[in-house]
Amino acid sequence: MNNKYNCFDTGTLQLKCTNGTYVYVNPTAVETGQLQDLYVSGIPPAPAAIAVAILTTTLSDILQLEKKEAQGKTFVINGHISEVHAYKEWYYKACPACHQCVYEKKSGWYCTRDENLVKPSNMFRLPATITDGTGNIEATVFDKVARYLLNKTCDELLEMSNPVDAFLKIENQETQYHIQI
Ligand SMILES: [Zn+2]
Repeated sequence: MNNKYNCFDTGTLQLKCTNGTYVYVNPTAVETGQLQDLYVSGIPPAPAAIAVAILTTTLSDILQLEKKEAQGKTFVINGHISEVHAYKEWYYKACPACHQCVYEKKSGWYCTRDENLVKPSNMFRLPATITDGTGNIEATVFDKVARYLLNKTCDELLEMSNPVDAFLKIENQETQYHIQI
């Protein structure tokens, strides 16, 4: 299995520029949204609503699976970020409406869905190592998860004098990750 992974939060679809196996953490999928609601509310959805098997597992077990065994399944791990690679690019310019990447024009910005924008938002895309004690994955933690961990929006963090200092505080914070391959 390729060693490059991709973490998704809900609501943001990202372009990925490497080939290989993608691991999606907290992907945008109906059942993931329902699971997150369940996690927050404790109220289970209708039985028919969860169509895929949800398996709580470990990173080492996931990493040992053949690609075709793992594809299409959702795994839940309890893990934490062991390191945020803050020397890499850790945020991007996004459309405030749909959270897609936007393109800079001569004047202003452009979203392929919402067209012309005056001002984009900044959104998190943290390159990080996630571990659960059994294995590590190199992943990208997207905006919703990063906002939850940091308790700040990306715009708020960028207003601070040393924004990357905040990343030290989220390392080792235990979180449940939904992984889809
Ligand atoms: Zn948009």
